[in-house]
Formats: sequence, C-alpha cells, structure tokens
Amino acid sequence: MAFKKFVKTVYSNNWARGICIGVIAGLILDLVIGLDIWNILKIASKETYIFFAQNIELQLWILIVLCLLPFGITVLILFLIAFFENPNEPEWLKYTTDTIFGVPWYWSYRGHVVSENSLYALCPHCFNRLEFKEKDIFGPAAGTSLAYCDNCGFKNTLEFMPNKIQYRVIKEIDRLTRIKYLQE
Ligand SMILES: [Zn+2]
Repeated sequence: MAFKKFVKTVYSNNWARGICIGVIAGLILDLVIGLDIWNILKIASKETYIFFAQNIELQLWILIVLCLLPFGITVLILFLIAFFENPNEPEWLKYTTDTIFGVPWYWSYRGHVVSENSLYALCPHCFNRLEFKEKDIFGPAAGTSLAYCDNCGFKNTLEFMPNKIQYRVIKEIDRLTRIKYLQE
C-alpha cells in the first residue's frame, strides 16, 4: 500500500514523473539496446565542463564593457519605464478630490472625463459615506437637498434637488479644473 501511495505521489508531480521516466528510459536503453547511456552522460558532462572552463583571451576594454553592461541595461530599462508610463498624461488627472458645496467629494476619470459612477462624498468628520435626501418636500426649503452622515450626524444643505447633485458636482469639478489647471 505504501508503495502504491509512493507511486501515486510521484506520478502526480511533474518533475518527479519526468525524472522517473528519464531513469526508466535510460535503463531500457542500457539493458535492452546495449547503449552505455551512463558513460555517454559522463563524457557529455565532462565535455561541457571543459568547454565552459576553457581560458580565453580578452581585450581589457571588452571586459570593462561587459562589467558596465548591466548598469547600462538597468538605466535603459528605467528610462523606458519613465518614458512609457502615462505619456503626456495631463496634470489635472491627478485632481481627484475637493470640497464642493461644503462636502468633500472624491472621483476618478474614465479617459479624460469624470466617471459618474466613481463620484462619492465622505463625511468631513468621520469619513463615512454621506447620504442625500430631499430636505423639505413641501416647506420653505423645498428644492434643496440634505447631505447627512448616518454615523456622526453631520449635516449640510445643498441648494438643489437630490437628482441634480451628480450633475452639479461634475459641472463644478469641470469649472474648478479649469481654474486650477487649465488657466494660462
Ligand atoms: Zn460623519
């Protein structure tokens, strides 16, 4: 049973299976065909060693170049990374948060446009996501929204309806981007 388990373990491992098949194939070649495979391997490894251990003559400048090559390649790779990483990416794409209408907003861009789905507001006190609701449906504050934190109780009024919030905030981001980044 132990042997069966051993065979199963060996068979499920690619490396072990490869080595076993190699050894068995070697034995078959050795015994059945009469090839002295072990001697061939011994000679081959010795030849390989002799090949790599041979002395060569080298001009000093080639040696210096070979020693400096890794540094050169490293510098080249770093340069290429710097070059291809976001080529010509506008500075204003780094503008992804601001306090707008009294509330800190966060967003990201899809292409060069503010992604509507990415837009959210956090409570300035406890960083909980803010909720929005219409403030006063029939009273004097009708048409305004309340931004509120259901964690700490922070409240802030926005002077437009909840369904206009996303549109107004993105419009404001657009305006602020022009002021901060695109004015000459
Ligand atoms: Zn809060």
